[in-house]
Amino acid sequence: MDAKRDTVAETRSQAGEELPHVYIDDILSSLKYYVDEDEPHLQIIAGDVCIRCAAKPCLYPCSVGAYQAQDSGVVQIAYHSCVECGTCRMICPYDNIRWKYPRGGYGVAYKFG
Ligand code: SF4
Ligand code: SF4
Repeated sequence: MDAKRDTVAETRSQAGEELPHVYIDDILSSLKYYVDEDEPHLQIIAGDVCIRCAAKPCLYPCSVGAYQAQDSGVVQIAYHSCVECGTCRMICPYDNIRWKYPRGGYGVAYKFG
């Protein structure tokens, strides 16, 4: 993938085109969130299961760092910042994450262009 990106960049560079630099923080800061305070779309089902889960794979893939572990081993999800990529719905070996899309009118709003 990086090699392909390099090839595209090289081709464009030879054609005199500059690829724009893209920073994830800039993209994230352009998003709007309509947070549903009454009905979180992501939840840990059983906190005690997380305490016994040593590896905690849910802490690693989220691009916005929504999953945080407390010293007690309990995991909390900052669902307010979720960009709805769906990665974490597949990562838990104990099926301990309740995941659904936010209700209509809530969730992240992307701006393209
Ligand atoms: S992977 Fe699942 S059980 Fe383990 S800490 Fe994360 S949510 Fe809890
Ligand atoms: S759906 Fe994606 S952005 Fe949202 S909490 Fe899960 S991994 Fe993070």
